[in-house]
Amino acid sequence: MAIVELDVLEDHERFRSELSSILPDGRRRWIYARKPSGIYYTARTILSVVLVAFLLLAPFIKIGGHQFLLLNILSREFVFFGVPFWPNDFYLVALIFLAVIVTIVLFTATLGRIWCGWLCPQTIFMEMVFRKIEWMIEGGPKEQAKRHSGPWTWDRIWRTSVKVGIFFAISFIIANTFLSYVISSDTLLLYVREGPFSHASLFVGLLFFTFVFFMVFYRFREQACVVACPYGRYMSALVDETTVAVTYDYMRGEQRAKWSKADNAARKSMHGTDGEFRRPHGRGDCVDCYQCVTVCPTGIDIRNGIQLECVNCTACIDACDEVMTRVGLPKGLVRYSSQQQIEQHTTSWLTGRIKAYLIVWTLLMVAAITLFAMRSTLDVGILRQEGTTWVTTATGMGNFYRLQIINKSNKDLPYVLNVVEPAGAVITPIDLPKVVHGGQIMKGRFLVTIPTDIATSFDKKLVLSIQSNGEIVKTVTTSFVMP
Ligand code: SF4
Ligand code: SF4
Repeated sequence: MAIVELDVLEDHERFRSELSSILPDGRRRWIYARKPSGIYYTARTILSVVLVAFLLLAPFIKIGGHQFLLLNILSREFVFFGVPFWPNDFYLVALIFLAVIVTIVLFTATLGRIWCGWLCPQTIFMEMVFRKIEWMIEGGPKEQAKRHSGPWTWDRIWRTSVKVGIFFAISFIIANTFLSYVISSDTLLLYVREGPFSHASLFVGLLFFTFVFFMVFYRFREQACVVACPYGRYMSALVDETTVAVTYDYMRGEQRAKWSKADNAARKSMHGTDGEFRRPHGRGDCVDCYQCVTVCPTGIDIRNGIQLECVNCTACIDACDEVMTRVGLPKGLVRYSSQQQIEQHTTSWLTGRIKAYLIVWTLLMVAAITLFAMRSTLDVGILRQEGTTWVTTATGMGNFYRLQIINKSNKDLPYVLNVVEPAGAVITPIDLPKVVHGGQIMKGRFLVTIPTDIATSFDKKLVLSIQSNGEIVKTVTTSFVMP
């Protein structure tokens, strides 16, 4: 095993032991990223508009009277795609979460941190909302750096104040949005109408989370992806040489060398067509312009290979493609590719590991879909009433029972409670509604009386059935106590 002595690492090797956004003495090195432009940035911008709109509007979308997505951890109420899941469906919710995790693992192993660059709310808000506002208020990276290192002039004060105000307002909206996924949009709107002082503790919590979001986007920024996010941590265990990710084609790019007069002459000899005119002269296609570094929101140099800090945002692809176009070399020096593809010009992404992930994923999906399809609309629970034994009635012996029915559908459902065994037993309802309302839990009691003539031969096992719309929903076997 090679032992690397950190203090003797060359400057170009320092990325192995240091984070680009943290100085060797532990202080923060602020990243002033340049605005990228190109096909990937445009695509990400369009996607981010769709995703932000979805995130903000989804709590207000109702399907069959249910919120599209609700994650009420406090009262253990979950709704996915308008389908409510109850606490007794927890096994199904756990299975869905497990399937989501395996899906992310599968995607990471095949396509790297594609989630981070394209779908993660942290990246989307940071790069597509907050950073764009920052560019508008404070200008490009050079202006920002100059202003931040200078004195507190009026120009700096008003720009910072406007930025802080807007960042805080957006953070407040984000905090409200996430709250509406937890307590539901209806409840949130009700609380808004009633005013913050009617729910002071919740409002304080809301302000706390607003402040957390504000600090994440105002100060913490890329550190969330680099040092805090657990997904980034285990990414290194999932990717290998076949993983397709944002990659620098070092076979084509090295030996990197600045653009020179000789390149101008060589390019002219190509008569305006793109082509490889540097490599015959011992120079790779990388013109060492650092444009891929200046756009990177985590401040890394993609030419050092796949790194933990890379969130696959594709900004360096756009930056390098722009440079390649300008100098007349083929695009794609930085592109979505795998190490194997770059070295061998071929790839076999369907490795044994991916096949194993696919099998696990398929099994989980089949199990989740099957269990979901088998999930009954009514969930029934019958228990003998606690603290009671038996009662003697005019016709025989009686026991009290509690009935609980959860209606998971959106419709009101009637039901019929019957005794299957022993024949002749009689049910007397006590505060039992005849209908279970949609999305509600119905609770009630009933008395079962065993006639005196059959009580002597009765084996103390009672079988009850619940029918709804002509179908037996559940058959329950319970005990019956007698002297
Ligand atoms: S290296 Fe490229 S893809 Fe990775 S974070 Fe930086 S700019 Fe984005
Ligand atoms: S943008 Fe392209 S050419 Fe410029 S340094 Fe990066 S990889 Fe090299």
